[in-house]
Amino acid sequence: MIELRDVRKSYPGGVTALDGVSLSVAPGEMLAIAGPSGSGKSTMLNLIGTLDRATGGTVEIAGVDVGTLDDDRLSRLRAETIGFVFQQFHLAPGVSALDNVADGLLYAGVPLASRRRRAVAALERVGLGHRVTHRPHQLSGGERQRVAVARAVVGAPALLLADEPTGNLDTAAGAAVLSLLRDLHADGTTVVVITHDRDIAAALPRRIQMRDGRIL
Ligand code: ADP
Repeated sequence: MIELRDVRKSYPGGVTALDGVSLSVAPGEMLAIAGPSGSGKSTMLNLIGTLDRATGGTVEIAGVDVGTLDDDRLSRLRAETIGFVFQQFHLAPGVSALDNVADGLLYAGVPLASRRRRAVAALERVGLGHRVTHRPHQLSGGERQRVAVARAVVGAPALLLADEPTGNLDTAAGAAVLSLLRDLHADGTTVVVITHDRDIAAALPRRIQMRDGRIL
């Protein structure tokens, strides 16, 4: 599912965020990426998610060397293959849970009625079938993150990337979100979770420890 070979990422000004990272993740794996702030975790997730391009090495996602794709093809691969969950939820304010989730299918070219039907099913899957008309400010943090998970998986991506998904949640809400991610993994989705939380990292089947832009 993911194949990184000697991947490097430097930013203008001379910061080397990734300093030769190699990683192989099989379809259906679930793993934690742990490490101190600034160690390159988000940079690595952004490269895996094709949100950014490496400055060296190769990144293969679902068997495709993403460095060979132009931006249009990269967007299509992303829309079809990858779902994202972020620490800050990134829901559209003033928009119902239903339409926030339905918008997850915009770039897949799905008609509106079908987007909404699938959004309801995704919200039911995360236990929010009774909250479809609620807007983000009417939801708790844990509920917002479950909406974000529903949006990430409404298109049934093979790969789910989560950057500190429990970072803004209390323990109980965080555990509920993690349990959702585990369910998705049990159903065959490849799941990569960045986390500072040692307990969460320890509970996942595989752990990658980063430091100074490298995997330890
Ligand atoms: P982590 O997610 O582990 O906290 P990051 O991947 O965000 O680490 O950052 C790794 C390093 O790259 C840090 O030194 C950070 O300051 C730097 N960095 C991240 N993004 C940028 C950017 N857009 N421009 C310049 N430097 C960046």
